[in-house]
Amino acid sequence: MIITIDGPAGSGKSSLSRRLAEQLGFSFLDTGAMYRAVTYLVVKNNLPILDNPLLQNLLKNLSITFDDKEVFVNGENVTGMIRRPEIDKKVSSVSELGSVRDKLVELQRAIAEKGDYICEGRDMGSVVFPHAQRKFYLDASPEERARRRANQLFNRRMIEKIDGDILNKIRNEIEERDSKDSTRKNSPLTIPADSIKIDTDGKTIEQVLNEMMKSINI
Ligand code: C5P
Repeated sequence: MIITIDGPAGSGKSSLSRRLAEQLGFSFLDTGAMYRAVTYLVVKNNLPILDNPLLQNLLKNLSITFDDKEVFVNGENVTGMIRRPEIDKKVSSVSELGSVRDKLVELQRAIAEKGDYICEGRDMGSVVFPHAQRKFYLDASPEERARRRANQLFNRRMIEKIDGDILNKIRNEIEERDSKDSTRKNSPLTIPADSIKIDTDGKTIEQVLNEMMKSINI
C-alpha cells in the first residue's frame, strides 16, 4: 500500500510522515532528501545547474540509499550536509531539471514497489504514485512554516538565535522556494484532486496524526 503526503516546505510533512509510518508499520520515503542529495553532488562537483553531459553521467552512476534516518549518496553519508542553507538555496533549480526528475522518479518507484510506503514530497500524489490508496496534502501559513524551519535550524545549531530578522529572512527564502516549486514546468507542486487537504497551522503533530489516521481507517 502507498500513502502519499505532498505539501510546501515547513508544512509538517516530514515529521508527520515519519510518525504515520511508525504508527502503521510502513516504511518512509523522503523524496526531498533525494533531490537534496543530487544537489549536494552538483555543488560538490562544481557542475553548472543545467541539463548537460556531466550531469547525465552523474545521474547514470547515481546511488541513493536510506538507513533509518541517514541518507547516503554514492556511499557517502550526507544526512547533515543536505540540510544546509546552501543546498536549500539551490535545490529548486536542480529539481526542475527534467533529467533529474526522470531519474529520481524511476528510483522512487523502484523503492516503493518493495512494500508499504509513506511517500513524502511535492509530486507524490500527482505524478509519481497517481494510484496511491490515500493522498494527503499538508499546508500551513508562511509565518508558521518559517517558525518551524527556524526551530529546526536552531536545534541543528545552524543559527545562533531566532529573532524577527531571522524569521523574515527564512520566510522570504521559503516563499521563494515554494514559488519556484509551484510554477516550474516539470511536475510542479499541486494539490492532487483526490487528496485530503489538512491545514496544520496551530495544530500539534498528535492532532494532525489523529486526523490522518481517521481518514486512513485501516
Ligand atoms: O521536502 P524538502 O524541503 O526537503 O524538499 C527539497 C526540495 O526538493 C523542494 O523544495 C523541491 O524543490 C524538491 N522536491 C521536488 N519533488 C519532490 C520532493 C522535493 O521537486 N517530490
